[in-house]
Amino acid sequence: MKVPFMDLGAMHAPIEAQVLDLVRELAGTSAFIGGRHVAEFESAWAAYCGVEHAVGVANGTDAIVLTLRALGVGPGDEVLVPANTFIASAAAVSATGATPVFVDVDPVHLQVTPDTLDAGRTERTKAILLVHLYGHIVVPGPILAFARAHDLLVVEDAAQAHGALWEGRRAGSFGVAACFSFYPGKNLGAWGDGGAVVTDDPALAARVRTLANHGRAGGDHYRHAEIGINSRLDALQAGVLSAKLPLLDGWNAQKDDIVDLYRNKLGGMIVEPPDGVTSAWHLLVVRVADRDAVRAELDRKEIQTGVHYPIPCHQQPAYNVAALAPIAEAAAPELLSLPLFPTMTEAQVEYVSAALTGALRG
Ligand SMILES: *Cc1c(COP(=O)(O)O)cnc(C)c1O
Repeated sequence: MKVPFMDLGAMHAPIEAQVLDLVRELAGTSAFIGGRHVAEFESAWAAYCGVEHAVGVANGTDAIVLTLRALGVGPGDEVLVPANTFIASAAAVSATGATPVFVDVDPVHLQVTPDTLDAGRTERTKAILLVHLYGHIVVPGPILAFARAHDLLVVEDAAQAHGALWEGRRAGSFGVAACFSFYPGKNLGAWGDGGAVVTDDPALAARVRTLANHGRAGGDHYRHAEIGINSRLDALQAGVLSAKLPLLDGWNAQKDDIVDLYRNKLGGMIVEPPDGVTSAWHLLVVRVADRDAVRAELDRKEIQTGVHYPIPCHQQPAYNVAALAPIAEAAAPELLSLPLFPTMTEAQVEYVSAALTGALRG
């Protein structure tokens, strides 16, 4: 049996005809940038997340850069970032001229806590980039209380958490703003790059839109209110996302069921979300000793796996800075991401689980 890490083809089959129609439509109208398809997706995405505004941008990294810039975060400021996240969380902070300060995580869910955040806090700390890694929402209450107490902004990096829930509220509805990526492999993925910023604050949404569109404010094409960049979601990607959005909850639920099957076999190994969180299960991560050997054994059995992430951000050559993150450092060599996709079969789950427990027995 062969088990891929994910299967985007199976997810795209039901929307393929609709997207090809859209390609034909756009070929006819040449309305490639902006327009109705982008506006329709932005409204649908805001409504889905339970917020007032969504602004489509070119990718998830830009969503973070633009949000922080629109909030006035820049040179001289520090932003708290978990040590175990995808590098883009940190690189986006750096791109604003601010400094990412890497903080540790708790040993169970691998998420920041008020204590780990406090250990990284200084006079210069301006914001927390709250990353819902693997699709697991970080329970917002304690983090928001900590942020209020120290006058910090909370921006969610929800690039892995489309549709995740906590107490009936979606990822993206907790911070002053939230940033999504629609990279093809994300829970909601485009047929190319894409991203969005969501927020309840109309002025913040407007400023992100201005910064993302060459600093244009209002309808005047060649009047530029501030120095912006070009970071827009295009009509084709917006159309793909609109076609896929109605299927997102079903896909997430299917993955949740598949995780239940895995849980029966692999119980305590899985990095679980906190109680009360319905994860989007972007990734199913287990912790195993001798990870690289286990991974090689699964590879021999034609099981594709991943590692998210092998090197904590502060130890990446690009940063190589000191950080107090012993838990993130100890976890990194043990992390192994198993195949997980909506159309995965019970037989595939059993095959992967048996191969993993076999490899662990040695
Ligand atoms: C994917 C991802 C990003 C960046 O999104 P891109 O669209 O690839 O720029 C940022 N943060 C996290 C946690 C991600 O997984």
